[in-house]
Amino acid sequence: MHAMGCNEAREWMSLRLDGRLEPAEEEQLSEHLRRCPSCALEWSHWQELDGLLRTAPGVAPPEGLSALVLERLRQQRARQIAGSLVVIGLQVTGLGVLMLGAVAYCLHGVAPVLSQVPYLIPAARFAATHLVTVAGVLGEAIGVLMRAAVSRRAALLAPAYALLAAGVMAAWLRVVVRRRPAAGGPAGA
Ligand SMILES: [Zn+2]
Repeated sequence: MHAMGCNEAREWMSLRLDGRLEPAEEEQLSEHLRRCPSCALEWSHWQELDGLLRTAPGVAPPEGLSALVLERLRQQRARQIAGSLVVIGLQVTGLGVLMLGAVAYCLHGVAPVLSQVPYLIPAARFAATHLVTVAGVLGEAIGVLMRAAVSRRAALLAPAYALLAAGVMAAWLRVVVRRRPAAGGPAGA
């Protein structure tokens, strides 16, 4: 028989309170409670609650009470998961804004250069050799983002990494933009 996990144990606690466990299952749950302090603590809380409701004069435990409590526990856990998804979503959104800002910044820097296309040719050659490096950094940043979708710790690193990538991209474009006038001098027309 497989070792019982804590999630299963919690569900079985609910069934035990309702008297719906088979003797073999009772034994399995007891075995888990002996080995798992956190479940044992939770079980003692359940018993307390159940005892209170049973001894309270004139108050019978409503049918399916434990199922209600279990449902509440599930909702709590769902909220925690939703919370971390929101954090990741916010980070991805923030990252998108950041990247758009970087692109806008770069385009703004590049725009005057685009009107002087002939001078761009040596710059383009220079750019081509560096584009590989920049693309590599960006690709890596995207990779980190993808992993962020599955790991919360990586999600914290992703914005920093994307910031770095955007910075590298901006710096690279700045160099391209600055280099051209230095090499050819400002164009008259
Ligand atoms: Zn446990």
